[in-house]
Amino acid sequence: MGRIYNFSAGPAVLPEEVLQQAAADMMDYHGCGMSVMEMSHRSKMFQEIIDEAEKDLRTLMNIPDNYKVLFLQGGASLQFAMIPLNLMKNKKADYIVTGQWAKKAYQEAKKYGDVVAVASSADKTFSYIPDCSDLPIREDADYVYICENNTIYGTKFHTLPNTKGKDLISDVSSCFLSEPVDVTKYGMIYGGVQKNVGPAGLVIAIIREDLIPETVEDTVPTMLQYKIHVDNGSMYNTPNCWAIYICGLVFKWLLKNGGLEAMQKRNIEKAKILYDFLDQSKLFKGTVEPASRSLMNVPFVTGNEELDAKFVKEAKAAGFENLKGHRTVGGMRASIYNAMPKAGVEALVAFMKKFEEENA
Ligand SMILES: *Cc1c(COP(=O)(O)O)cnc(C)c1O
Repeated sequence: MGRIYNFSAGPAVLPEEVLQQAAADMMDYHGCGMSVMEMSHRSKMFQEIIDEAEKDLRTLMNIPDNYKVLFLQGGASLQFAMIPLNLMKNKKADYIVTGQWAKKAYQEAKKYGDVVAVASSADKTFSYIPDCSDLPIREDADYVYICENNTIYGTKFHTLPNTKGKDLISDVSSCFLSEPVDVTKYGMIYGGVQKNVGPAGLVIAIIREDLIPETVEDTVPTMLQYKIHVDNGSMYNTPNCWAIYICGLVFKWLLKNGGLEAMQKRNIEKAKILYDFLDQSKLFKGTVEPASRSLMNVPFVTGNEELDAKFVKEAKAAGFENLKGHRTVGGMRASIYNAMPKAGVEALVAFMKKFEEENA
């Protein structure tokens, strides 16, 4: 059996060239007689892999020198705790709640301080991004937190919130490297890489140097201190070597394919094919307000649960995998990350047209 079109929200599709390179390197990485999975993280060879990955990421995102790049474990979910434990110096932070991941981050931060949800889109099942141009950000808040692309609901901040001078912290897990980004607008950008960048088990955090505290409270576990990871080049303990290596290959693939400007152009084209179809379809309809639509995650419904289930089943049989919506939302969701080819989206739309005709 060949490759299918994989619309999974994460872990998700990776570029075929990267998988082929990893396969070719598997038995003997660059003549060393072993795979990257088997080598010491203290070896010169692995040091080169991590250094090169960081260098390429800095090039791709144009990361200024006063930002640190960390390769961490524990998923994006562990950052929900690490962020307040390290960055909430006044013990106050303001969160914008636009979906389940933002809500989880907000609830976790509440364990550690005075945390307020200054805006939310829960009133309409998170189907839009609220107006964040004039929020009641507190004078003494340490930071403002957002989840920039809401994987489950398919919304995206197309304009960053007015933080009134506070540092912005953004979870970009599901839009990481999907378009150019001005890093200087953020105090911290982070994401689990298993959505748009690499395999599960690695988080990349880009943090402005001056935000990283020299010391934190004694009770904060060593492994949860950014400073420890900065001082040890992300190798205080054994990092996720394999995921770092694969991300490095993906960074090279992105650079070779024109970088983030080219990705953005491709991603706009791909999403347009699907949204244009949804906007004229008599059977399928998108669930997100057009102005808040994500380029990465596209949820849609037929309005009939049985028909939704039939669609998912028939799509699977036709080679379109993982189109079932998140268990909390239902319906369908097509995640069309960087590595999803345009042909995959075109084929999906052709299949949806056929399904619509057959079920009219
Ligand atoms: C998937 C996801 C998470 C959770 O990631 P884990 O690595 O499983 O902890 C957090 N935020 C966003 C936006 C996500 O898409």
